[in-house]
Amino acid sequence: MTSPVWHPFTQHGLNEPIPHVVRAEGATLHLADGSSLIDGISSWWVTTHGHCHPRIAAAIAHQAGQLDQLIFAGYTHEPAEAVARGLVDLMPQAPGRDPLAHVFFSDSGSTAVEVALKMALGYWHNRALDGLGEARSRILVLEHSYHGDTIGAMSIGERGVYNAAWTPLLFDVGTIPFPHPGREQETLAALEVACAEQPAAFIVEPLILGAGGMLIYPPHVLRAMADICARHDVLFIADEVMTGWGRTGTLFACEQAGVVPDIMAVAKGITGGAIPLAATLATPRIFEAHRSTDRARLFYHSSSYTANAIACAAAAENLAIWAEEDVRGRIAVLTQGITDRLAVLADHAAFANPRQIGTIMAIDLIAADAGYLSDLAPRLRAFFLERGLLLRPLGNTIYLMPPYCIDAQQLDAVFAALVAAGDYFGSAS
Ligand code: PLP
Repeated sequence: MTSPVWHPFTQHGLNEPIPHVVRAEGATLHLADGSSLIDGISSWWVTTHGHCHPRIAAAIAHQAGQLDQLIFAGYTHEPAEAVARGLVDLMPQAPGRDPLAHVFFSDSGSTAVEVALKMALGYWHNRALDGLGEARSRILVLEHSYHGDTIGAMSIGERGVYNAAWTPLLFDVGTIPFPHPGREQETLAALEVACAEQPAAFIVEPLILGAGGMLIYPPHVLRAMADICARHDVLFIADEVMTGWGRTGTLFACEQAGVVPDIMAVAKGITGGAIPLAATLATPRIFEAHRSTDRARLFYHSSSYTANAIACAAAAENLAIWAEEDVRGRIAVLTQGITDRLAVLADHAAFANPRQIGTIMAIDLIAADAGYLSDLAPRLRAFFLERGLLLRPLGNTIYLMPPYCIDAQQLDAVFAALVAAGDYFGSAS
């Protein structure tokens, strides 16, 4: 019987096998047919500690019997308060910079980004109501970025065949060229010019663009971009949806550049990847611009499940795990494990551009049909699936983003499959 399920980002016409997963633990997925897979991308970059961390599973079970869901407009609960306090404490800080002191909850990375954009425009709108300058609405973005699939998030992301159908709904943005090595000054000069025109905000994925091809740029460029925005009083928004929760080696990528954004979006690993939750953090001036008795200044945003108590309990437990377990130690071991193995892979003639930041590694397969939309990706997916590995290459870019608990043996198996892919596809294509 054919399934009625319509899967995301899935080319149903290809009739690719759709593995049926029944159980998971750590970096392992168990399939209905009794076989297993190594989860090489933390199930879309979310299960940071591995699947079904017992503490997070227990926290969810406990909370489900206490308080499941509460309208969050004007009501609160301890799991949300605990997460908000914990997040504020963990945010990047720098002398002379206002702290990210206010937390707005939502349910996914895309909505956290939408909220960030709405906060930015709300800030300028409300200031204009106070007679403090013009309302601003233009958003600057970094070329090749991905911020999600809702209309606003798509508007600020790379345009292409994947959002062509919705072009009439997308708003205009200013695109700043990506800081490719040797061309960083072009980026900074373009940003300087664009900021002089007083846009509302500039949004970036700090240090690495994820879905746009795992493109890495250095902390000093992130810092310089933030400084330009500060100089022109343009709000700087960091989308740490992918980079957060230790992925780049530090808890948040902005730390490596000494950058404290005006607004920051976090999601994915906020619950250790067990259940959807996201948050958008803002500095006091953004919050204060909305704190008013005037109904015109209220922050008009919510969803039914804002700050769901079960999701918040999972996030609170995730914060406790970060405080009490040696997560940073695990990240250091995994980072080194990837570095050691990547050195071997880098010598393989079929590969180019080996790159790594923390626990994220990427390499490009040299192939005739390269590029994000090449037919290579489904063939590579099938190749890895046959070898017991869940990977989802971006065109000819093969990347890893494993759970921090993946062990050395599993990592060996992952890299053996990568070498095999190089042997097979390097000569075949
Ligand atoms: N922002 C970035 C940088 C992402 O990588 C993603 C998802 O991969 C998103 C936003 C959207 O997050 P979600 O898929 O939870 O909506």
